[in-house]
Amino acid sequence: MSACLFCRIAAHEVPAQIVAETPELLAFTDINPQAPTHVLIIPKRHLGGVPDLTDEHAGLLAHVMRVATHVAQASGIAASGFRLVVNSGPDAGQSVAHVHWHLLGGRRMAWPPG
Ligand code: 5GP
Ligand code: ZN
Repeated sequence: MSACLFCRIAAHEVPAQIVAETPELLAFTDINPQAPTHVLIIPKRHLGGVPDLTDEHAGLLAHVMRVATHVAQASGIAASGFRLVVNSGPDAGQSVAHVHWHLLGGRRMAWPPG
């Protein structure tokens, strides 16, 4: 059994509120939402963070954008707008070492982020 929480969610070993699933990706609601819509998009295969992504992952990255748009449309925030965030490393506040995209929307976002 993997020690990585998001690998375990991807394997359906840890329950999550799944909003989209493809052979490569899983999208599920964040347990501590920071906006009315707060969904995490993860690759099912373990990748630690942005520095682990290479040209090999170009298709995966395009797929993340497609799934994000699909989830935004299904959540009714495609027109009002949304933010896709990847925290990478300690200064960015990455707390789970399995790369993930935060899809946030349903409220006005501030810039710059905190
Ligand atoms: P990070 O801080 O690494 O950018 O984001 C990790 C996110 O994972 C946080 O927003 C946190 O709320 C979420 N999270 C942590 N543990 C769980 C969990 O067990 N289930 C779900 N659905 N989200 C989690
Ligand atoms: Zn993992």
